[in-house]
Amino acid sequence: MHIEQDIKLGFKDVMIRPKRSTLKSRSQVSLERNFTFLNSTATWTGVPIMAANMDAVGTFEMALTLAQHQLFTAIHKHYTAAQWRTFLNTAPKDITDYIAISTGTGKEDAKKLKTVFKSHPELKFICIDVANGYSEHFVEFLQQTRKAYPNKVIIAGNVVTGEMVEQLLLSGADIVKVGIGPGSVCTTRIKTGVGYPQLSAIIECADAAHGIGGQIISDGGCTTPGDIAKAFGAGADFVMLGGMLSGHTESGGELIIKNGEQYKQFYGMSSATAMDKYAGGVAEYRASEGKTVEVPYKGDVKETILDILGGLRSTCTYVGAARLKELTKRTTFIRVAEQENQVYNG
Ligand code: 5GP
Repeated sequence: MHIEQDIKLGFKDVMIRPKRSTLKSRSQVSLERNFTFLNSTATWTGVPIMAANMDAVGTFEMALTLAQHQLFTAIHKHYTAAQWRTFLNTAPKDITDYIAISTGTGKEDAKKLKTVFKSHPELKFICIDVANGYSEHFVEFLQQTRKAYPNKVIIAGNVVTGEMVEQLLLSGADIVKVGIGPGSVCTTRIKTGVGYPQLSAIIECADAAHGIGGQIISDGGCTTPGDIAKAFGAGADFVMLGGMLSGHTESGGELIIKNGEQYKQFYGMSSATAMDKYAGGVAEYRASEGKTVEVPYKGDVKETILDILGGLRSTCTYVGAARLKELTKRTTFIRVAEQENQVYNG
């Protein structure tokens, strides 16, 4: 047994200290980033915020709206090849810059990936997503995928430590997804005791990735635009959102009406709900590691996006960053014992 003594931090443990700034207005801030990816050598320009590859978030409808604002969607893996065909035949051509096709690491997953790419070689991004990115099987699947698709941008995860970020980048990933246990509908930390506070995970993983020319996505745990700003401040190249984008018109899941109020269902991809839907129930050897919740209906996602982007531009003006790219350099975190004033929060 071994204990690491230094305290690891989450978003709620810090604030960003304001700094002298020459920026006169939020409108002077650019949130656009340009990346050249490590292994595919492909380039990308956009606003590096992503919808998570969850049923209720990573939908085709979400992608169409987010792409209008240059935001990205990791499309969930449960669409059929036929549904992909219908979507791509009607969506704007440049949608392929803002979507990834997600896959697990099973034989069937690889087969489906091949089928979709055969019909749609224009797709550019693959998201290989497993709850535990530390397994050898996952690394082998990544290596095989890189071999099969040398020019595609590969996102792979999830991990939370620098040495595994390096291994995934050296095994063919362009972007590594970082986060174990911070998600809004995740119960991994409760069921297993495993996890890593997200802010520290970002700081350590970004350092490892940037050292060898790769990028990271901070995945999970953002509950406010301020958390997204802290993730970018800590060094995340992209920030992935589940819960913050749930409950909208474009989110998946039925609209539920209860006592005259509208809700939408939102659930973790390892929840009993997801396993009932896709795997015929929770297998006896495992436990669900996700929650199912009903989120009050939030309307069209455009309003939420504008709120997030407005908040992020404001963070940049507070610290004098004219471009999102400069935010990490301009960030000094202060450790705190309080966050916002809750007096009117009911
Ligand atoms: P959120 O933005 O809602 O805080 O976090 C979204 C992330 O939670 C997803 O991108 C994914 O990494 C993670 N997640 C989604 N479903 C589950 C689940 O059922 N269990 C766990 N442990 N994590 C999940």
